[in-house]
Amino acid sequence: MYKEIVRFIREAHKTPEAFLPLHEPRFVGNERKYVMDAIDSTFVSSVGAYVDRFEEMMAKAVGAKYAVALVNGTNALHICQILAGVKPGDEVITQPLTFIATANAISYQGAIPHFVDVEEDSMGLSPSALRKRLELIAKVEDGKCINKMTGRRIAACIPMHTFGLVARIEEIVEVCNEFHIPVIEDAAESLGSYSGEKHTGTIGLLGTFSFNGNKTVTCGGGGAIVTNDEALAKRAKHLTTQAKIPHRWEYAHDAIGFNYRMPNLNAAMACAQLEMLDQFVENKRTLAKEYQAFFKDLNKVTCISERPGTTSNYWLNALRFTNKKERDEFLLYTNDHGVMTRPIWKLMNDLEMFKDCPKGELVNARKLDNTIVNIPSSVRI
Ligand SMILES: *Cc1c(COP(=O)(O)O)cnc(C)c1O
Repeated sequence: MYKEIVRFIREAHKTPEAFLPLHEPRFVGNERKYVMDAIDSTFVSSVGAYVDRFEEMMAKAVGAKYAVALVNGTNALHICQILAGVKPGDEVITQPLTFIATANAISYQGAIPHFVDVEEDSMGLSPSALRKRLELIAKVEDGKCINKMTGRRIAACIPMHTFGLVARIEEIVEVCNEFHIPVIEDAAESLGSYSGEKHTGTIGLLGTFSFNGNKTVTCGGGGAIVTNDEALAKRAKHLTTQAKIPHRWEYAHDAIGFNYRMPNLNAAMACAQLEMLDQFVENKRTLAKEYQAFFKDLNKVTCISERPGTTSNYWLNALRFTNKKERDEFLLYTNDHGVMTRPIWKLMNDLEMFKDCPKGELVNARKLDNTIVNIPSSVRI
């Protein structure tokens, strides 16, 4: 069976022999032109026309009022917590099944991750597990949500749209609203993914994106915050620019700020890549359909597909095996045969740094742990 799978994946990528990576970027648009233009302009650092242009393009691409460009997606998560009012010693709810950046960013703010289970289908935070957990441990006092077990405030919730599949984000926001918890969507993997007509990242208070080399759209390294709240957008720009008070020559600052602004050089590339977004997503969705048709007939392995009512960018296609043994055999066979595959991240609560963090019952996360594998998912251009 593994032999057939490898043959199919290779055929789908027209790569009969060479090493086949999980996700390769493609630069076939205006990347060179815009980057050269940025160099010629001498504006290569964090001020420049491409930064402004990228922020406009990004806001338009996701249908948010504002977008702020940052150096990466991890920083975007950090800043969003400050914007949402997370203070050191607070708890921030997130899912155990995510890339480490989500949990790390919570730690950067001196806050404590609190892990709540995911759903089996979307692999995103489960609104029903969230409700159950909050009803068990939380109380609302003076408009603040307090964890009765620890006495700490639950100051934010960061669900993540896993592999570009869309979490039940409206329901998550509804539960969080009841408990006075602001929602920050980690949409790093889901540029081009929609819940109904709404782009991921625009349904909570704030949303974050990443333009790292392995993401759907890349500018080497980059991130963005999106929001419909003007005051938050202004604050994001201010805090990420060393909290410098705008003035023609004075250097004065009114807070401890961060040097998190995206350089114009990267923004030039980001503009060119964003022009390709629709085509990239279309290609990725076509590949996903081909995978789904192929795996439909195979026992023992399922190809994960989008939920009805959602549109996935299929950033990384994922297979689900029935047990760890079969998953490990598949990982070994594919990687031995030059087809890169990768298991899903280790659960955050199993990592040394986060093993003592508060958590709910993680039933689905445990089921998914050791059974999910990502397979090659490039744009095929
Ligand atoms: C990629 C990613 C990030 C941010 O990554 P950066 O490399 O800092 O841009 C954050 N969260 C998730 C889930 C990611 O996949």
